[in-house]
Amino acid sequence: MAFLELNVLDNESTAILGIDLGTTNSLVALWRDGRPEILKPENAHDGRIPSVVFFPPEGGVVVGREARALAADRPDRAVFSIKRLMGRGLDDVAEDVAAIPFPIEASEGGVPRIDVGGRKMSPQEISAHILHHAWRVASDALGEEAPKRAVITVPAYFDDTQRQATRDAARIAGLDVARIVNEPTAASLAYGLDKKKQGTVCVFDLGGGTFDVSILSIEDGVFQVLSTAGDTHLGGDDIDRLLVEYALADLASANAAPASLLADAAFRQGVRFAAERAKIALSQDPETEFAVVAPEHGIAWRKRIDRAELERLAAPLLDRTLASCRRALADAKLTPSDIEEVVLVGGSTRIPAVRALVADFFGRAPHTELDPDAVVALGAAVQGHVLAGGTRDMLLLDVTPLSLGIETMGGAVSKIIARNSPVPTQVTEGYTTYADNQTGMDFHIVQGERELAADCRSLGRFELKGIPPMPAGMARVAVRFALDADGILTVTAKEETTGTQASIEVQPMNGLTDDEVESMLAESFEHAQEDFDASRAANLDVELGTMLRAIDAHLEEATLDPESLADLEEARAEALAARGTKDLPRLQAARDALEQASLPLAALLMDSVAKAALSGKTLDEVTRGSET
Ligand code: ADP
Ligand code: MG
Repeated sequence: MAFLELNVLDNESTAILGIDLGTTNSLVALWRDGRPEILKPENAHDGRIPSVVFFPPEGGVVVGREARALAADRPDRAVFSIKRLMGRGLDDVAEDVAAIPFPIEASEGGVPRIDVGGRKMSPQEISAHILHHAWRVASDALGEEAPKRAVITVPAYFDDTQRQATRDAARIAGLDVARIVNEPTAASLAYGLDKKKQGTVCVFDLGGGTFDVSILSIEDGVFQVLSTAGDTHLGGDDIDRLLVEYALADLASANAAPASLLADAAFRQGVRFAAERAKIALSQDPETEFAVVAPEHGIAWRKRIDRAELERLAAPLLDRTLASCRRALADAKLTPSDIEEVVLVGGSTRIPAVRALVADFFGRAPHTELDPDAVVALGAAVQGHVLAGGTRDMLLLDVTPLSLGIETMGGAVSKIIARNSPVPTQVTEGYTTYADNQTGMDFHIVQGERELAADCRSLGRFELKGIPPMPAGMARVAVRFALDADGILTVTAKEETTGTQASIEVQPMNGLTDDEVESMLAESFEHAQEDFDASRAANLDVELGTMLRAIDAHLEEATLDPESLADLEEARAEALAARGTKDLPRLQAARDALEQASLPLAALLMDSVAKAALSGKTLDEVTRGSET
């Protein structure tokens, strides 16, 4: 007996999953409630599904976390990194095959078949187990059968055969492929970079076993891969391997373990897991314990290791990523400064040294607001949503309910992140010094819609020191506001010539109730006119200050006629008197009068500047000369 599906036109049934089918880990995501969301089993703390397939001797198949755990005891039954063999002939992958502890034979057409305990399978079939498992995870998370249509991501360099093999794996898993999407494109979609009218993006993906760098261009929401480079054997696993060697060497030299044990595959697998744990801990903590404990062999080896030591070990590997970046840029005929957005992908980009390296190479902070493990799957879900007929315009992304900005000279507010901006977001604005030889700048971060800082909520203050002395207005200070998905705002001020920087981290929504937000908004409407006036008055006051300083600096050197001088003195006196009154009409009048009265002085100065530049010719002569 069967029930008829009645709600066939229900949204859910047309939804499309996004699946990142990774070499090391896979993830599944779906567009829900206006945003892409990683689907994960209820008890899992993240959605990562190890791309490991375990074939128990008694039959059946185990995939994911459990398979990875079982692999520790029976490495001969666990298939890792099957993605490397997808769509490849045996000859192409000799190096990979050597690293796989199973007999592999070529069937007709050169397709490798892997023999696990007598079960012979193609890479497509093994990948299908991972895809099917991802679908099961999605169904578990949703509490109902997950959609059977999926967007699946592949590396940008995958050729047609590799893409076709991925489609075949999906078909075997009972999934319908809505589209195969490039991983870097998906990552860019997750960051909403398709909304840029035009731009150049670099996606830096350092995963478990592979490194890929892709340069993309965006034009009217369409991505094009300009170049790709990378290293199919460079990733977090290599760092783990260095740590394993370090541990094994220490164990051997201390005679703590017999040589036979050191060569044992299961033991080495255990050491590998311990190495990875230590590495991951060091992304968070400055130091950690690297421990190999195998009571059955009487081994309890522990060593404290710090971040600097790991960085020293990994440095040669990390340097290789930059060589690939240079190659990709050269192929795209671009330089690092042409890249407008850098996106980090892959678990290994959580390593602080990797982030620093990338930021330094491109001269800009990479996007790290989204989880680098999750961005590809999230982007696949965005693509799925669009293909399912959803629009991105009605995106209900989390938005920041109040504007965020900084107090400018005079007490007005310069809004940097506007109210209702979707988060995560980041905005950079340029500022400069107000006084000659000013070596420090104070930043006051405020939140709210009012025009004067005093009427907004103060979030914090910090100071940028060490600006080299130079004339007012010459220093270039970039102030970056980065609001992450957790609502944490990081404000960084950086003096461009020296690179000196300072920053602060605040939580804008901390302690604010919805009612308070409402009343802050209501207040801003209520005071709109007076705020506008107050802000204008504050800005006029600052402008007067700047004008007065310029006039004072040059009045001595210029010989003004007595009448102009008297006018200027009068306007100057009124400007001084008007400052600080907050009286808008008076400030406005004073500014206009001062501007008018300073025209003769300005003409004289222009003349002398032109004189200097044109070796003796007056401005008049120059103009006359050009007429003849
Ligand atoms: P892939 O795309 O190859 O499937 P992932 O993007 O999932 O790989 O990255 C897996 C790699 O990231 C592994 O080597 C893992 O050890 C590493 N990794 C995960 N989290 C961290 C972390 N916090 N610090 C350093 N490395 C990490
Ligand atoms: Mg990946």
